[in-house]
Amino acid sequence: MKFGGTSVADLERIRRVARLVSAERDAGHQVAVVVSAMAGKTNELVAWTDGSGAAAQGLTPSDDEYDVVVASGEQVTAGLLAMTLRNMGVPARSWLGWQIPIIADDAHGRARIDDIPPEKLGASMDAGEVAVIAGFQGVTRDGRIATLGRGGSDTSAVAIAAALGCGCDIYTDVDGVYTTDPRIESRARKLAKVSYEEMLEMASLGAKVLQTRSVELAMAYHVPVRVLSSFVEPGEAPGQGTIVCDEEEIVEKRIVSGVAYSRDEAKISLFGLPDHPGVSSTIFGALADANVNVDMIVQSKARTADTANMEFTVGKRDAARAVEIVRSVQPDVGFEDVQVNDDVAKVSVIGVGMRSHTGVAKSMFQALADKGVNIQVISTSEIKISVLIDAAYTELAVRALHAAYGLDQL
Ligand code: ADP
Ligand code: ASP
Ligand code: MG
Repeated sequence: MKFGGTSVADLERIRRVARLVSAERDAGHQVAVVVSAMAGKTNELVAWTDGSGAAAQGLTPSDDEYDVVVASGEQVTAGLLAMTLRNMGVPARSWLGWQIPIIADDAHGRARIDDIPPEKLGASMDAGEVAVIAGFQGVTRDGRIATLGRGGSDTSAVAIAAALGCGCDIYTDVDGVYTTDPRIESRARKLAKVSYEEMLEMASLGAKVLQTRSVELAMAYHVPVRVLSSFVEPGEAPGQGTIVCDEEEIVEKRIVSGVAYSRDEAKISLFGLPDHPGVSSTIFGALADANVNVDMIVQSKARTADTANMEFTVGKRDAARAVEIVRSVQPDVGFEDVQVNDDVAKVSVIGVGMRSHTGVAKSMFQALADKGVNIQVISTSEIKISVLIDAAYTELAVRALHAAYGLDQL
């Protein structure tokens, strides 16, 4: 069982979580619980210690100490939930990442889990204790704290489930995975089932209900995942939530399953590039060397002979650095101008049915045109189409696409 930040936001909610855990135990199960920090806590800790936060306090930022600070929110909720369970007469103990251990690599701030030896956890659970595990954190092979990226408690939970050989129930503030973010479109419908692949695309394209890495792990280790509401009492019909499973297990096939959006994008435009081999490799080589992740890329020939224009997107946080890097190769490459626009959003439609149906792109572009939304960049893969638009039109575009594919009538 995994409980997110809003589900453990105060003691009253932690008590409700404890009741849900206790009921699961009464039903005859051994339980491992993964908790996030209280809602808002991680943001507060990040604001002290990330690049701009540290600088504002007159500190030089440091990746490994950043992790020590931001991992602390989960320690608090793990301890509080274990205490609450004990007060209810349920044997329980808290576990920090290093105590299990959850062994992670040393990419601080976005570490990956390498291994979770299940013995210690298993022995404690066999002895009847509920294991209350701090999410989001692991320990590197040389004993340093590492965090798993924002939203990383989902990944902790799926990894623990894989290590213990059980399923993973993700309890959150919505009662399942919806056709789009229910906070943006009230007509969004809950999906009874969604395939790992679609969920992976939805997560990586902005639906933050599950961290992308958690879906990758679930898919690789065949961990059955359910997304459920934590805002219920034991015994109240909790509903089935959404089951994330193999495509073959889904009987009802849809062409499009969901619409996702991300405002975390910035577009970089290069004008007057020389049109000859090696230009892209120099530019994207320099970005890759600096660990800047590039997403959409388009290049087109300019009117003037032998030049081209290029646009690509990066995460908003990386935009300034990306421009700096591009400028640093300007003398080698010889383009005329670079511009950045971070007032953009990426809106995507996702569905495995796209593999076998035509006309999905046409419907998307038509729906956007009907609302007067201009498309700046397009990218596609086998089961998704993404467009980059002016950020001001995000909600409008999400709702228009949601209606265009009939998702409100599922
Ligand atoms: P937690 O703190 O429990 O990890 P998150 O805030 O990380 O919760 O994720 C849950 C949120 O994800 C929901 O409140 C919802 O606004 C958002 N969300 C975005 N897209 C979707 C979607 N397709 N289905 C459900 N929730 C979504
Ligand atoms: N507390 C961490 C975060 O806010 C991890 C999580 O909630 O999953 O990103
Ligand atoms: Mg989350």
